[in-house]
Amino acid sequence: MTTIAANLQAVENRIAAACAAAGRPVADVTLLAVSKTWPAAAVREAAAAGQGAFGESYVQEAVPKVAALRELCAEWHFIGPLQSNKTRAVAENFDWVHSVERLKIAERLSVQRPPELPPLNICLQVNVSGEESKSGCAPDEVLELARAVAQLPGLRLRGLMAIPEPTENSALARRRFASLRELRDRLMAAGLPLDTLSMGMSHDLEAAILEGATMVRVGTAIFGERHYA
Ligand SMILES: *Cc1c(COP(=O)(O)O)cnc(C)c1O
Repeated sequence: MTTIAANLQAVENRIAAACAAAGRPVADVTLLAVSKTWPAAAVREAAAAGQGAFGESYVQEAVPKVAALRELCAEWHFIGPLQSNKTRAVAENFDWVHSVERLKIAERLSVQRPPELPPLNICLQVNVSGEESKSGCAPDEVLELARAVAQLPGLRLRGLMAIPEPTENSALARRRFASLRELRDRLMAAGLPLDTLSMGMSHDLEAAILEGATMVRVGTAIFGERHYA
């Protein structure tokens, strides 16, 4: 077994244990393998071990990688900060975007989504950490944003995403994840049909699953430590 295959197995075991502890079926949680900074060969290795969904954060790095890996028929998720001048490349090359925090970006993605492709799946990124974090819309703005995004024809609103501030305090981590779940529940009570809570990374996926994550985004625990050029 390759290192990546063994790491994937270990992460799947962690997910299964967390689902068991939470009393949730393991099929509730999708593993997104975050391949940013890793070459196409690493993605191929993970795909050969059965991994089907990959996350990328940098448009310039991701677009040629996605193109080089078309034959894998993998599902590609954009999870990084997204500026207006990069929306077209994302609308054309990805299946999901987890990091929408402004209506203007969502409108551009909707208009630029090629009509022959299915609607782009969208999660709204929410700042659940207050002043500790700069990315994501404020929790009290998310209902209005969600209602507007749900109207856009090129998009399909699926749920919410958060990246809480790093902490060693697992009680705090769980509170942050719980607050995203509660927001999702409020949006659903307001009539928005959401099925996705994108939360939890290599170091905190257990806490996220205990609080209802349906998608965990894991890089380091699968591919190793990243080295930025
Ligand atoms: C890089 C990244 C991850 C993966 O983080 P790891 O700690 O390597 O698992 C998850 N989510 C987002 C948004 C990221 O940018």
